[in-house]
Amino acid sequence: MSLVRVPKRFITDHDERALPTPTIHKATTRHFWIDSADPHFLGLLSDAEYYASDAQDHDFGARALICAIDQQLGWCCTCLTVNGPADTRCVNCNKRRP
Ligand SMILES: [Zn+2]
Repeated sequence: MSLVRVPKRFITDHDERALPTPTIHKATTRHFWIDSADPHFLGLLSDAEYYASDAQDHDFGARALICAIDQQLGWCCTCLTVNGPADTRCVNCNKRRP
C-alpha cells in the first residue's frame, strides 16, 4: 500500500457523480489519503485528466489532485510514466513536472 495525500475537492466531486472512488484511509480538513494501488485509483486519475484538460472551463480541483499525486509518486501528470524524484522533465513525454 502506498498512501498519497490529495486535496478533497476533486475526489468529492468525483464521488458525487456516482463514479467508483478509491477508499479514503484518512481525512483531515482539506485532504484525503488514498492508496495508489486502489482498484479505482486509475479511474479517478483518468477522470481528473479529463477535467484538467484545456478544453474544460472548470477543472473542479482536478489539476491540484494530479499535481499532488505527481509530486508524491513521481508520476507524470500527462502520460503516467513513473519518473525519478530528481527528474524535472518527464522521461517519456518531456513535459515539465511540478
Ligand atoms: Zn510524461
